[in-house]
Amino acid sequence: MKMTKEQFITQFKKRLSEKYAMGVEDASPTELYNTLGSLMHSAYSSDRHHTWRQYLLNKQKQAYYFSIEFLPGKLMASNLLNMDWLETVEEGLAELGIDLADLTEVEQDMALGNGGLGRLASCFMDSIASCGLPGNGNGIRYEYGLFKQKFIDGHQVELPDDWLSTGNVWEVRKDSKAVDVCFYGQVHLEEDANGKLKPVYKNQQVLRAVPYDTGMIGYKNNIVNNMRLWSVEIPNSEESKYRSLEERRTIEDLTAVLYPDDSNAKGQMTRLAQEYFFVSAGIQSIVRYYHTLKEPIHRIHEYVAIHINDTHPALCIPEFMRIMLDEEGMSWEEAWAVTLKVMSYTNHTIMAEAMEKWPIDMLKQLLPRIYQIIEEIDRRFVEETELKVHDRSIIDRTRIINHNQVHMAHLAIIGSHSINGVAKLHSELLKTVVLHDFYSLYPARFNNKTNGIAERRWLQLANRPLSSVLDKTIGTSWRDNPEDLQQLLNYQDDQKVLNALAAAKRQNKENLAALIKKTQDITVSPDAIFDVQIKRLHAYKRQLLNLMHIIKCYQDIKNNPDSEFYPRVFIFGAKAAPSYAYAKTIIKCINETANLVNNDPDVKDRLKIVFLENYNVSLAEVIIPAADVSEQISLASKEASGTSNMKLMLNGAVTIATLDGANIEIRDAVGEENINIFGITEQEVYDYYESNTYSAVSYFEKDPVIRRVLEAFIDGTIPNIQSEGREVFDSLIRYNDEFFVLRDFESYVKAQEKITECYKDKRKWQKISLINIANAGVFSADETVKRYADDIWQIEPVTEYSSKKG
Ligand SMILES: *Cc1c(COP(=O)(O)O)cnc(C)c1O
Repeated sequence: MKMTKEQFITQFKKRLSEKYAMGVEDASPTELYNTLGSLMHSAYSSDRHHTWRQYLLNKQKQAYYFSIEFLPGKLMASNLLNMDWLETVEEGLAELGIDLADLTEVEQDMALGNGGLGRLASCFMDSIASCGLPGNGNGIRYEYGLFKQKFIDGHQVELPDDWLSTGNVWEVRKDSKAVDVCFYGQVHLEEDANGKLKPVYKNQQVLRAVPYDTGMIGYKNNIVNNMRLWSVEIPNSEESKYRSLEERRTIEDLTAVLYPDDSNAKGQMTRLAQEYFFVSAGIQSIVRYYHTLKEPIHRIHEYVAIHINDTHPALCIPEFMRIMLDEEGMSWEEAWAVTLKVMSYTNHTIMAEAMEKWPIDMLKQLLPRIYQIIEEIDRRFVEETELKVHDRSIIDRTRIINHNQVHMAHLAIIGSHSINGVAKLHSELLKTVVLHDFYSLYPARFNNKTNGIAERRWLQLANRPLSSVLDKTIGTSWRDNPEDLQQLLNYQDDQKVLNALAAAKRQNKENLAALIKKTQDITVSPDAIFDVQIKRLHAYKRQLLNLMHIIKCYQDIKNNPDSEFYPRVFIFGAKAAPSYAYAKTIIKCINETANLVNNDPDVKDRLKIVFLENYNVSLAEVIIPAADVSEQISLASKEASGTSNMKLMLNGAVTIATLDGANIEIRDAVGEENINIFGITEQEVYDYYESNTYSAVSYFEKDPVIRRVLEAFIDGTIPNIQSEGREVFDSLIRYNDEFFVLRDFESYVKAQEKITECYKDKRKWQKISLINIANAGVFSADETVKRYADDIWQIEPVTEYSSKKG
């Protein structure tokens, strides 16, 4: 796909003229953006076609990553980088008087996900293509992505994310690949001519699933994989049935909105219908492709691996069974054998309330045939398990259908040959606690795959100043192989390199400071420590612990205005699920504290609080390179892995963390002295649960600092939070502090004090920062997906088709 700058300029002008009948000087940024996008699209489409042909001719085994969320962010810069066009295009555009940054500004974030789960899926898409692995995404093309967040009087307000309104240059609608997906109706089994039972359906609702394909471009390897997102339509044959606008709207609602809640899966018919819709469409299209290979159906597991990302796509299992049984005519035993070999599942949470369950009645009504199949899977599971275990209670705890509910995690586990957690600790907790019963039944299925991040986006693209220091210091091989960042360790005492790294950080901080000024009208000094907590707002992530420490700092300053206080800017980015009242309460409290602190003359600008609106991938790309401190302070055992911890480390932030999720692996990578660990361990948390001895009020009573901080929530110190302050206070004192915030407060404060001391020693800080960057390579998603490919999917990198293979 290589081309020269001159070739680019010629083609760009030609395309602009063809598309808009315009010259560069008259075109708007949007028109220029669309022109560039269309040029790129034409260029990589032939690679997409070639990749597809190679897979087909080699009959290569392919993986399909089913995820109800994808969170790619913007694609233009990342596609340019991976196509190896970035520099050429930047220079070419500059020659035409255009700044590429003005064009990428035009693109809207593709935000078809809530947070970590969706972002992981997108980092994997980038890495799978970049490793030349045959793997594709399968999901939903939501017409509206995650809501846009605004603050009004400190409260979160949600606005619709109409991301498609400006068009989408990357997607291709594939009408010819549409499939039907059926809901509702009645089903019964009848014997066919050969005595086989076949389902007969009545009164089904038939919907059309139309795929929109987006190329997933590998890094400088000419591989282009596919992310297929499905959109609902009314089939022509059914047009006459749905005449009223309202009826049509009900159907179109199916793929209209992303459910903006990644913690409590609320039982809603539309959500369940979404899950089946993209699962059924995806599996039908996989099986249809498989038939073009002309291989026998009972060998499908040699050509297809389906991955279930969290439980939302767990219906893959009964849907695949349905197709094998009803359409391919397999026996139950044959169908089950291939299903197990095809399916694998990643668990993302240990929080019981986030485990997805559906009422039987709902499943039966919406998906009668699928429910029959789930019942039979469950019946056979019980029958088989009874033969294996002495203790019958294990069956009650593991079966799929129980207490009038269908347990999706149980379905996913029973129907998959591989079950993985997303960090070492998390995978251990799955085996020993959360899924212990299943582990005792199927020990060989359990494994760990620590999450990773696409270092291209989070370093090469997001942090150009740092990237350029790295190139000059250790050469450019880290761009292909992030583990080569290790070479930086040779420079940990080289003052010139440390200064260059510090200068890059400084530039990024100035950049963020300018954004903060522009968007929030708050002035912050790049000399201050930039302390960053960016992630979904959730009680277990403990933004409250951070806020309590800030209030303590404020009170220290107020009590002693002339004492020394090292300047710090506390930066937050977080959306709360619209139905999650407590999370919204915390947002309000942070915003009101910010108002108070930022405008108090006694503070003399030494303490600033900035809560940036509408946290998303693009904002993360500006905040992360500018961070000095990375806040990873969830209650031990609650954060499955975390990935913002990895992104921040890679960009030279120093972590303050509990021993939770991948924080433990970060500590192991950088060493105890290069990370600030605090708080109780997961063992201590479980001990408290066991003994039931935690008393939050005792910390309130015995610790005057805690008392003073908590009183600020209810005594008017922080204005405008009468009800919210009380709610927070009660959650800690009356309801005994579910996430042990008060228990960890003292050790958190001490860790923060150590950070300040360390930061004052510039050289020491710079060295620790360097060590963090140098050791971040192990968290490359390239390595993670290679482990999935080898251990779980058994897929291999693409090789050129050779006719000898036949
Ligand atoms: C990486 C990322 C996340 C995940 O953050 P955690 O701290 O791991 O929960 C969420 N949202 C966005 C936009 C991200 O880029």
